Amino acid sequence: MVKKYDYVIIGQGVAGSAMAWKLYFKKKSFIILDSEIKNSASNAALGIYNPITGRRKALTWNVIKLFKNLEDFYKRVEDYIGTKILFKKKIYRPFKDHSDFNDWSVRLSNKKFHSFIKELNNDMVITGKSGYVDVRKYINETRKYFKTRDRYIKYKLNDKDLSVVNNKIKLKEFDSKNVIMCLGINQKKIKCFDDLEIKEVSGSSILTESNISMNHILNKKISIINSSKNTYHIGSTYHNGSENTGYNKIIDQAENILNEKLKLKEVLFGIRSASKDRRPIVGRHHNISNLFLINGLGSKGVSQSPYSAKQLLDYIENNKELDREINIKRFKT
Ligand SMILES: Cc1cc2nc3c(=O)[nH]c(=O)nc-3n(C[C@H](O)[C@H](O)[C@H](O)COP(=O)(O)OP(=O)(O)OC[C@H]3O[C@@H](n4cnc5c(N)ncnc54)[C@H](O)[C@@H]3O)c2cc1C
Repeated sequence: MVKKYDYVIIGQGVAGSAMAWKLYFKKKSFIILDSEIKNSASNAALGIYNPITGRRKALTWNVIKLFKNLEDFYKRVEDYIGTKILFKKKIYRPFKDHSDFNDWSVRLSNKKFHSFIKELNNDMVITGKSGYVDVRKYINETRKYFKTRDRYIKYKLNDKDLSVVNNKIKLKEFDSKNVIMCLGINQKKIKCFDDLEIKEVSGSSILTESNISMNHILNKKISIINSSKNTYHIGSTYHNGSENTGYNKIIDQAENILNEKLKLKEVLFGIRSASKDRRPIVGRHHNISNLFLINGLGSKGVSQSPYSAKQLLDYIENNKELDREINIKRFKT
């Protein structure tokens, strides 16, 4: 007998995982399909969520809404999977030069930054309401959890699996009311949504051994996380395109900062999917009524995916308007 679902989620990086948990919390039926590719962006991610980002030291887009329920979401997931994935950490940002110090002093005079800056001294600024999610653990434990509940299948989607009948998408043997694609940059290989304007931003991070223990995240061009005993997770590189440009730069920079020779354990590489305006892309296909997507999470998938998934669920289930800044329709003239 063919099993019926409310939703099929295709792709289980942070986007598909957030969608799955939101559906699970709402007691919807769903199945997740994922091809388990090695170089997904989620697999390489440091998992940092940080309210003040970029060279301009600006508040991250939509910070209040994004950060409001962020930690609660991951803590709720922890309760189900029974493993710690969320680590609240301050971020120490040593100054490059005096103008850096001046920039931060200006930020501190602006009320909007107050709750995010913990301390400013002569050497560094310490920011708060930040931390990291162990993304690989989050993805693997989520997969395990749903696999044992018959809600996950390893499956590689191809165009030939899809057909459209009466403006509705059909996916082979899966009888589902709705289909949500969360394929990251691999969305480009699937024909529907082929006009989606996303581009590749590749990057690497590394895992190294270290004896120095550190209870904060250190950010000085690169970010260094003491992710477990004797292990640092360090990154990242950014390259417009899909090539793997290597990780040597990260090691050199990290050894310089830590003043320590590092022993490499593992190199991780992934390709981010970035939208033109650096906002997520969320919504319904322009002429297939039951086909949706979450994409364009760029370099902020950890903070943007729970918000994007909630927005999409409210849109589908409760007819709520999507946030205009993430709505896929914003690119249509
Ligand atoms: C080096 C690096 C460091 C980063 N650091 C951070 C960070 O510190 N903080 C942060 O928030 N973000 C960070 N990011 C960005 C973050 O990784 C992305 O925003 C996020 O992972 C995107 O998630 P996604 O689910 O949209 O896509 P992906 O992670 O690419 O997931 C797509 C999923 O779809 C599956 N798939 C693909 N094709 C198919 C198919 N045909 N059929 C079925 N399944 C398929 C894949 O197996 C994969 O699981 C970093 C990225 C990189 C590369």
